[in-house]
Parts: sequence; C-alpha cells; structure tokens
Amino acid sequence: MEVFAISGYEEVGRNMTCIEVGGERIIIDMGIRVDRILIHEDIDISKLSKEDLMKKEIIPDDSYIHSAKAIIISHGHLDHYGAVPFLAEKYNAPIISLPFTLELCRRERVRNDLYKIDYGDIIQIGRNVSVEFVYVTHSIPQTAIVVLHTSEGKIVYACDFKFDDTPTLGSKPDYDRLKEIGREGVKLLIVETTRIEEFGRCPSERIIYYMLENIVDKLGDRGIIFTTFSSHIERIKNLIEIINKKQLDREILILGRSMERYISAAIDSGILNIPENVHVYGKPEQIVEILKEVKRKKDKYILIVTGHQGEKDAILTRIANGKLPYKIEPGDEVYFLAGTIPNPLNIAQKYALETKLRMQGARIFKDIHVSGHAYREDHRDLLRMLNPEYIIPCHGDLKMISSYVELAEEEGYRLNKDIFILRNNQGKRIE
Ligand SMILES: [Zn+2]
Repeated sequence: MEVFAISGYEEVGRNMTCIEVGGERIIIDMGIRVDRILIHEDIDISKLSKEDLMKKEIIPDDSYIHSAKAIIISHGHLDHYGAVPFLAEKYNAPIISLPFTLELCRRERVRNDLYKIDYGDIIQIGRNVSVEFVYVTHSIPQTAIVVLHTSEGKIVYACDFKFDDTPTLGSKPDYDRLKEIGREGVKLLIVETTRIEEFGRCPSERIIYYMLENIVDKLGDRGIIFTTFSSHIERIKNLIEIINKKQLDREILILGRSMERYISAAIDSGILNIPENVHVYGKPEQIVEILKEVKRKKDKYILIVTGHQGEKDAILTRIANGKLPYKIEPGDEVYFLAGTIPNPLNIAQKYALETKLRMQGARIFKDIHVSGHAYREDHRDLLRMLNPEYIIPCHGDLKMISSYVELAEEEGYRLNKDIFILRNNQGKRIE
C-alpha cells in the first residue's frame, strides 16, 4: 500500500490524503485552509480559479493525482470537506459520508454522486478496499474514525476526534469497536495532532453545558448576544435548550450565512429540532430587516451570531463596526462560546473586535470553550486500543507532528522505522 500525503501534513487545515492499494486509489478528506483566506484579505474564494486557490495554499494541490475510486469525507468541518466543490469533480467518483456531511456537500456546487454510509456499515469500494465508519465524538455531529479494510491490512484514519465520555448530543465513542479493530490488527494509523501538546485528556462538552446554565441564570435585561462556531450544533442545541428551560420571554434569533447552512443541514439530517421561538436567518437582507425590528425591543430577543474570531464579514464584527441596524449600548452582554484560534492575524482581529465592543459599553464574557480535539493522553489511549504496526501523524505543523512522535516513542515506536513524518506531497510505501 502507498500513502500520498497531499496536504494537511505541514499545517492545521486543508486535509487530504490518498491511499493506493493494489492499483486502486481512495481519497480521504478534501479540506480548505481557513487562515490562508484571512491573509489574502478581501478575496471571495468562490471567484478564484482552482489554480489560484492552490497557489495561495487555500486548497490542496492534488494536480498529480488523476483518479480515485471514491472520496471519503470524515466529517463536516471546512478543513475536511471545504475543497470538495473545487476538487471533487475531476475524479468522477462518489463522495461517501454520513448524512449530515452529505447535506453540507449538497449545499455546495457538487456534481459527484453522494453515497450515504451509516456507522457500522462496511461498504466495498473496488476490488481491494472496503470502508467502515466508527462512531466518535468531536465538535461537530457525525464524525467518524474511518477504517479501510484492505487486502494488505487495515488502515485507520483518526482525523479529527475527541474522546468525550459524557457528551450532550449522541453517545460516547464506540470504544468496543475500536478495541476489536485493534485486536484484529491494524497495519497503519493516520492520526491528527492538533492538540497533542495539551497534557491530560480533553474536557467534556458537558462542562460547557454547566457553564451555560450558570450564564443563562445570570443574564441581564438588556441586549444579549452569543457567538460560537456555526458547526458546533451540540453547543447551539444546548444553549437553546437551557434558555428555553428558564422560560425567558425572549425569541432566539440565529443569524449568519454559515449558521443558516449548518443549522439547516442539521435539521434536514434529523440531528436537530428547533422550537417555535427560534428563527434562523442567513441572507443579508433578511438579517438587516430583522435587526431593525430587534433594535426597538432588544430585551425581547437573544441573538446567536457568527463572528467569534472577529471575521471581517461576520455578523458580530459588522455590528461592532456599525454596519448593521443593531447598536451595542452600555450594559449589553456579549458571550464568546469559543477560544481565540492562535494565529497572529486572528488574535489581532479578535482584539480589535473586543475593544470596539467594550468601547461601546458591552460586558464581555469570553473563552467559554472546550476543544473538540484529543489531548496527549487521549492519543495514548487510542494508540493502546489500536496497537498499529505503523503510524503517520497528520493535521498539524512540524512541532505538533514531532510532539506526536515523542508520544509514540514513549509507546515503543521508532522514528523512520515504524512512525514516519511525511511532508505535503510526499508518498510513503508501507510493506
Ligand atoms: Zn474537525
């Protein structure tokens, strides 16, 4: 078998891997790199050509791969599926994923056949490979650890995952199946490394549930704005549930284009039900109209909006910049249900956003967040469950990937003998 590290092996973002077994190729994930979009300010990626996007390192450069039997998408984060509209078509191959992720693909300009898989199904792809999705938790619903059963052994692709034993949506990870796969024998583990430098285990989303209960107990009587990841359906669901449990006399408005996309995909795939007092608006003109209404009686609404990182066109940023009818006034409360993604550009634009909000009189509550990624000891647990023969770490910069190598060495692996560091566009033959 041969592994082509197309991209995501030198960065956090634009994940794409190609596996070849017996002359047949399978692609796993096709993501974009979000921080590259921020650097090239004022670009609309839908207006750029595929070649430009590759040159700017926003999408993977897969120009040397010409065919594939299938494109497997592990989950619906942009760094795993966002390049599908640009790259998938040339392969003339089906996209295989879980229903929620397929709903997201359906909202893009995707011409490939969409093939639904459920957890536990094993689907044959070509002569030499079949694929299985194993249930795992993450910060977006319907994430899978992807297992390729091949004629040359099993390949496990764990990118991304978190081990949350007390999740607030869905059940805990399918450890039984992971252990069983480990006992059957794993040839190769391809594994994310985004949070490998954090010691211990990643805290449960339930912690945020309790924090939200405290927050909602103490909400003021002025304007209230929450902002979080549009894809974090679990957290948005909890927030709505907790607000409604308190029976506050307020309508809940969910605003922003990506909010509308993820929420509608979650509703259409049966993951989320929204109560009658919740309204979702994605189109700019709708948002302007409803905010004119809200402006007159702020105490009758709670807003859940995009813009937790201070992104230029997001709702919260536009409110802070005076570009929307809603004005921040002294005593209004703004809750960031997110951390700051630690790259310098992001830190700067988030700082600018917070400063503007504060100058207008808002009370700011921030860093209400737990990660969706495995920490160091979660990674050790996965390794011990699977006991793979070979490992290729991915989805991290060189520092994160090296840190994973250290962990694997503690577990008895040796660099360049059974754990390999690949750079983007490198291939590795596994005997
Ligand atoms: Zn993810």
